[in-house]
Amino acid sequence: MTRTGPLVLAVEDDPQMRRFLRASLTSHGFEFVDAASAKEAMAEATTRTPEVILLDLGLPDGDGVELTRRFREWSHTPIIVISARGREADKIEALDAGADDYLTKPFGAGELMARIRVALRHARQAAGATAPTFELGPLRLDFVRRQLFVEGSEVHLTPIEYRLLSLLAQSAGRVLTHTHLLKEVWGTGHTDQAQYLRVYMAQLRRKIESDPTRPKLLITEPGVGYRLRDQI
Ligand code: CA
Repeated sequence: MTRTGPLVLAVEDDPQMRRFLRASLTSHGFEFVDAASAKEAMAEATTRTPEVILLDLGLPDGDGVELTRRFREWSHTPIIVISARGREADKIEALDAGADDYLTKPFGAGELMARIRVALRHARQAAGATAPTFELGPLRLDFVRRQLFVEGSEVHLTPIEYRLLSLLAQSAGRVLTHTHLLKEVWGTGHTDQAQYLRVYMAQLRRKIESDPTRPKLLITEPGVGYRLRDQI
């Protein structure tokens, strides 16, 4: 049997959701395998080597956050968490445990494909060299010279603004949690200072967005973190 596309492992105990995931993924050329429990998920992940794991946080025999931690002890396979609306704390815990992104139920096939595409691209980039520049609509960020250009003109960034924007750009398309950003930029002693982020994100938006009050590039994920789009 020849593989048609990347293998996705979906860990989900709801049969209707599994059917939706199978139909969406196979129609987009992915190989698909599913697991209805944490135990099955571990067995499939170790024997089938999926390229992406979709992981429901509420499983009958364990929780997805703990499973994420266990996967991360031996695997770098991107994990996209699937969770119910309003479960922000669970999502954040899963992201901080090593999950790459999340989808909130209900979601459509388009959103699912976009998240998987970003996860696969980041996994492949992590395995090889990263690009020296990042481009998104009017933005061009030069990682070598540490310069930002908007519509071709250089825009001055403070060191903290540059650090934040480059972190977001290196993970473009993925959400970065408040804790992750604070730890990377200000250090582990400042992970409860979400107001720093609000101030700096507002400054960045004034520099990169055509209408900073209606951001199209730098998106707030309420209660979770920030996401720089990977395309517009
Ligand atoms: Ca469930």
